[in-house]
Amino acid sequence: MATLRFNALKETFSRKPVPVNEPSRRSEIFGQNVFGEFAMRQYLSKDAYKSLKSAIQKGTKIDRDLADHISTGMKEWAISKGVTHYTHWFQPLTGSTAEKHDAFFEPVEDGLAIEKFNGDQLVQQEPDASSLPNGGIRNTFEARGYTAWDPTSPAFIMGTTLCIPTIFVAYTGEALDYKTPLLRSLSAIDKAATEVVKYFDKKATKVTATLGWEQEYFLIDSALAKSRPDLVLSGRTLLGHTPAKGQQLDDHYFGSIPARVLNFMRELETECMYLGIPVKTRHNEVAPNQFELAPIFEEANLAVDHNSLIMHVMERVAEKHNFMVLFHEKPFANINGSGKHNNWSLATDTGTNLLSPGKTPMKNLQFLTFFVNTIKAVCDNEELIRATIASASNDHRLGANEAPPAIISVFIGSQLTKVLDELENVSNGKLSPEEKTDLKLNVVGKIPEILLDNTDRNRTSPFAFTGNKFELRAVGSMANCGDPMTTLNAIVAKQLIAFKKEVDALIEGKKMKKDDAIFNVLREYIKQSKKIRFEGDGYGQAWEIEAEKRGLSNNKTTPSALQPKISKKAIDLYHELDIMTEKEVHARYEIEIEAYAKDIQIEGRLIGDIAKNHVIPTAIKYQNVLIENVKGLKEIFGDGFMDKAKEQVNIINEISSHIKKINKATDDMVDARKRANAQEDPTKTAFMYCDEVKPYFDVIRYHCDKLELLVDDETWPLTKYRELLFTR
Ligand code: ADP
Ligand code: MG
Repeated sequence: MATLRFNALKETFSRKPVPVNEPSRRSEIFGQNVFGEFAMRQYLSKDAYKSLKSAIQKGTKIDRDLADHISTGMKEWAISKGVTHYTHWFQPLTGSTAEKHDAFFEPVEDGLAIEKFNGDQLVQQEPDASSLPNGGIRNTFEARGYTAWDPTSPAFIMGTTLCIPTIFVAYTGEALDYKTPLLRSLSAIDKAATEVVKYFDKKATKVTATLGWEQEYFLIDSALAKSRPDLVLSGRTLLGHTPAKGQQLDDHYFGSIPARVLNFMRELETECMYLGIPVKTRHNEVAPNQFELAPIFEEANLAVDHNSLIMHVMERVAEKHNFMVLFHEKPFANINGSGKHNNWSLATDTGTNLLSPGKTPMKNLQFLTFFVNTIKAVCDNEELIRATIASASNDHRLGANEAPPAIISVFIGSQLTKVLDELENVSNGKLSPEEKTDLKLNVVGKIPEILLDNTDRNRTSPFAFTGNKFELRAVGSMANCGDPMTTLNAIVAKQLIAFKKEVDALIEGKKMKKDDAIFNVLREYIKQSKKIRFEGDGYGQAWEIEAEKRGLSNNKTTPSALQPKISKKAIDLYHELDIMTEKEVHARYEIEIEAYAKDIQIEGRLIGDIAKNHVIPTAIKYQNVLIENVKGLKEIFGDGFMDKAKEQVNIINEISSHIKKINKATDDMVDARKRANAQEDPTKTAFMYCDEVKPYFDVIRYHCDKLELLVDDETWPLTKYRELLFTR
């Protein structure tokens, strides 16, 4: 019965670290498998190189001739590196990546063959993607969508395949991926922020959103992980008693990294270097076998691509080192979950980070402008931000009393709080000369100094200012960062447009000086967005009560958290900024709400199967052993046997009682699933899965976990938490 588990353990204990080949200088291999600056200069003519650069930087069009030229250069470069195939690489709404490989090889007349890759093949493809989610946009009989080259993210080589980052859209024009709306949002924030930057920096012509993600994950020995059907099929353990030692000792965090894991990391980092992903930090996380990886930040579109890519590379490298990598937000109950912090900022083409305080008061007014506008945008759209990070798996983290709550709030630290408090008291209208001097020299002028020693970092805040960027920490470790980044760009863009209008109105209408006008508008924003600012403990019960008083949302489960995505406010936002049409917004909502129900459905089936096929039979077997024992005792001791058999009989009873409860809960859960499936409206189905199916998981789990403690370890079929988490 328990052979799977014991074989897995045997295999695991016999493992040695898989050796890695790595160059001594990583900088030498950095970007070698990317069609970047160096390859472009080498394989393109000067004119083609210049035109491509301009297309990347300014979004100018790439014509047929140029595309042909670039594709030829790309092909020659790729072939020189042993590449035989190419693929359009994209991020469909399944949350993973998709590709379809075609060979360069092409037979021509007279029995000859050539290596071919022309401009058309580079620019556009029509993958048969009828099975990818589309939220009802593509009729399946049509099943037509196309991928189109995104020149702003460079092509790269994986194995022997040239991968070309693309968007994925329906023939009717609607986006079917994460990248398309992200690119549109980047253009919206560029436009809006550039207009505002001009108050401070006449030379700036472009603003880019930057993203630095931090990826948390678990590494579990592959033999052990594969011995658990729940881990294999749902990415998390649905059963399992908490081990005697958990993370109480905090000894894993920043502890030394085990050799096998280190070899995995070294190989992964080498692969990242080839792919031009600037990974920099690695360390243990809070939970046993949990780790984190973070690159240096990049332009947001590239950073999102790199995150999708790295998740894929991690899975591959892990396999080689006999690990399974778990990206699930909560693979183990009662053990710290995983997130993906999204560090976000805005940078100008003149080299300024707009969320970094500068040396002069004017630079700091610029900083404050973007700082306060971001806070205001988050305040006005907190529900939408919560919506963009909602998923069945992330529900286990958010609002589950561990790492960010489901309530969105902003942490800025005590020093900046003081600055905003002072600004709030700026008098209405034009400022007096004294006020101006005081503000400029004492309040705004001193920001960089105070920030230097502003070390109070609040780890419980879902949206924290950390010195020169905001950090959205509530994103799930499994999620594509594209969705939350699209929304963040969108709300800040909308906010900056409104800001510009208000400031201009004061300058023109009230003949105010520019900085008077800016101070006046910021003051109002500071007042209006006060409710989103929270410096206390985000995990505490007190905050939930306080947040409710403030009117902040607290949507703990995905079906309710997703509703704001289809509110009129959200539809208008995306529409006004040309990021998504109403149809696209609805399609996405539909995909997500259906994905939620499907996820819970799969987990429900799994937990039912495991309970009935693994747990109950094992419990009965052990119960039989006890029964035999009791019978034997009776035989030997006759009437007085009960004195000796009391404990055994108690356990026999306990086992029966747990089995009964598991059976009942499983049957009731199946009925609840049937009722949920019978709903026509996917929203109703999702709510029913959430409210009526999911609660049985806890009941089933509770009794199974009790049985785990009762039943002989020798016969228990499922690899236990302590084995999964502490074997390396
Ligand atoms: P933490 O204490 O949250 O682990 P780290 O220093 O490890 O902080 O991570 C900070 C992250 O923020 C890194 O991924 C880094 O690249 C990113 N980051 C730094 N500056 C910026 C910026 N201007 N824009 C976006 N991300 C940034
Ligand atoms: Mg962080």
